[in-house]
Amino acid sequence: MSDTTGLESLVVDTRQHEWTNRHLTFRQPLLGVYDVWNPMGGRPLERYNATTRALQKLIADAVRDRVHLRALGGGWSLSRAAATDGRLVNTKPLNLFFRLAPRLVDDRYAGDPAGLRFVQCGNSIVELNARFRRQGRSLRTSGASNGQTIVGALSTGTHGSAIDVGAIHDTVAGLHLLVGPRRHVWLERASHPTTSPAFASQLGAELVRDDALFDAALVSFGSFGIIHGVMLETDELFLLEMHRVRMPLDGALRRALDTLDFSGLALPGGAERPYHFQVVVNPYALNAGAHVITLYRRPFRADYRRPRSDPEGLGPGDDAAAFIGLVTDAAPPAIPLLVNQVLARAYRDIHGVEGTLGEIFTNSTIRGKLASTAMGLPVSRATEALDLVLAINREAGPFPVLTAFRYVKGTRATLGWTRFEPTCVFELDGPLSDRTLSFYQRVWAALRQRGIPHTFHWGKQLGLDAAAVRRMYGGAADRWLAARARLLDAESRRVFSNRFLEELGLAAP
Ligand SMILES: Cc1cc2nc3c(=O)[nH]c(=O)nc-3n(C[C@H](O)[C@H](O)[C@H](O)COP(=O)(O)OP(=O)(O)OC[C@H]3O[C@@H](n4cnc5c(N)ncnc54)[C@H](O)[C@@H]3O)c2cc1C
Repeated sequence: MSDTTGLESLVVDTRQHEWTNRHLTFRQPLLGVYDVWNPMGGRPLERYNATTRALQKLIADAVRDRVHLRALGGGWSLSRAAATDGRLVNTKPLNLFFRLAPRLVDDRYAGDPAGLRFVQCGNSIVELNARFRRQGRSLRTSGASNGQTIVGALSTGTHGSAIDVGAIHDTVAGLHLLVGPRRHVWLERASHPTTSPAFASQLGAELVRDDALFDAALVSFGSFGIIHGVMLETDELFLLEMHRVRMPLDGALRRALDTLDFSGLALPGGAERPYHFQVVVNPYALNAGAHVITLYRRPFRADYRRPRSDPEGLGPGDDAAAFIGLVTDAAPPAIPLLVNQVLARAYRDIHGVEGTLGEIFTNSTIRGKLASTAMGLPVSRATEALDLVLAINREAGPFPVLTAFRYVKGTRATLGWTRFEPTCVFELDGPLSDRTLSFYQRVWAALRQRGIPHTFHWGKQLGLDAAAVRRMYGGAADRWLAARARLLDAESRRVFSNRFLEELGLAAP
C-alpha cells in the first residue's frame, strides 16, 4: 500500500439524520450518512488504497466516539440489515474494477485465471453487467433485479435461480475486509487459494487463508467490518435463451418442484437441463396454470436480437418483486381481479428471447411499495409449502400475494440461508400493507407448525428472533460468532453491531 501518494479520498457528511431504505419500508434516525468517493487522480490501485485508509479512519472515529458504523450498499434490503442508529457509510460511489496480472494469481488456483475480477464494493450489478459485457465476461448469476451493489447483494445471500450454480456469494473467491481501525485482511479459503501473496501485499492487507473465516464472512450483512473489495469468479460471456409459458400445476410440475427432475415435463428445451428454473403461482388463476420460466445457457454470438423491455418498462427477467407493488392496498374483494390484471400486463408468455444475463435481468427501478419474504427450504418440501400457502389464502384471504419458486445449489457460507442441497427459495411477494404482513405471519407460523425446515433471506421481511436463528442454524451460529471474534476485536464488534444483529442473538460481545 502506498502511503506516499498524497491521495485523499473524499468523505462527505451529508448532514442527514434520518435514513430510509430505497423501498421505503422503514425509517431510521441516525447520527449521520457519509458518502465516500475515491480520489480523482492517481493510479487505480493507489486510489483504492487511499480509500482503504479513509474507510479505516471512519472506523477509528466510530471506535473513538463509541458509536455504531455500518456500510450501506444500494439500500434495497427490506429488512433492517443495513440500518444503524450511528453512522452509515454510503459505498455506492466506490466502483473501481481490476483485472489480475498473471503473477498475482496463485499457482494452485483451480479456476480459470482469466475469469478473476477484483471489484470495489460499490459496483452495482447493473454496472458490472455492462463492464463485463465489454470484456467478454459475465457474472454466473444475479438476482432478478439488479440495483444492488455487489457487496450489498452478496452480504444478504442474494440469489437468482441458476439451479446448479448457487447464489452470488458462491462465485466469490476473496474478500478484502476492513475489520478495525488498524487491521485489514485479504481473506480466501485455504482450500481454494486464489491470489499470490503479492496481491494482499499490494493492498497493504494481511493475507489470511482460512475456510472457517471465509465461509463466515461471506454472508455477514455488514457485521464483519467493511468489505472494501471482492474477487469474483466470472464466466465467458454467454447468452440465455428464455421461455415463460403457462403449464398446468399437475403431478408432473409438482414433481419437478419437489425434485428438480424435469423428465416428466414438456419443457421448451426438451430433455436439456435448464440453467435457470423458476415457477410463479397466481392463487387467483390456478386453472390457467403456473408460469414456468426456463433459461437455457448458450454460447455467446453477436448476431442475436437484444431483448427489449415491454411498454410498461418491464424486462423479460423481471420477477414479481419488480411489479407487485403496483397492486395497492385494495379492498379484499378487489384483490383477485387486481392481481390478475397486474400479472396479465407484466407476465406475458415468452418464447425463446435471447440475451446476456444483464439483458434478461434488468430491473433497477421501484414500482410501488413492496413486501417480500423469501424462505430457503429443502427441495422435497416445496409443494407442501405451496399447499399451506394456498390453504391460508383460501381460508383467511384473499391476500394480494404471488408465490414463486426459485432454486439454487446449496451454499457453504456459514449463515448462508440457501443452505439446503439444493435449496428451494420459496418467495411471497406483495404490496407493503398490514394485510400482506399478516399473511406472512400466518405462513411463517404454518411452516413452523408443520415442521418444514426453513431459513429466511436476510435482506427481506423475515420472521426471526434469536431462538429461531438457533433452531435454523444450530452450531453454525456459534461458528459464525467465533469467526467474528477471531477477525474483529471487541471494540470493532461493538461498532459493527446494530439492532438487527442484537434481535437475532448475533451481536454477542
Ligand atoms: C425489488 C427488489 C428485488 C429483489 N430481488 C431479489 C432477487 O432477485 N434475489 C434476491 O436474493 N434478493 C432480491 N432482493 C433483495 C436484495 O437483493 C438484498 O436485500 C440485497 O442485500 C440488497 O443489496 P444492496 O446493495 O441494496 O444492499 P443494502 O440493502 O444496502 O445492504 C445489505 C447488507 O449488506 C451490507 N453491506 C453493504 N455494503 C457493504 C460493504 N461494503 N461492506 C460490508 N457490508 C456491506 C449492509 O450493511 C447490509 O447489512 C430484492 C429486493 C428488492 C427490493
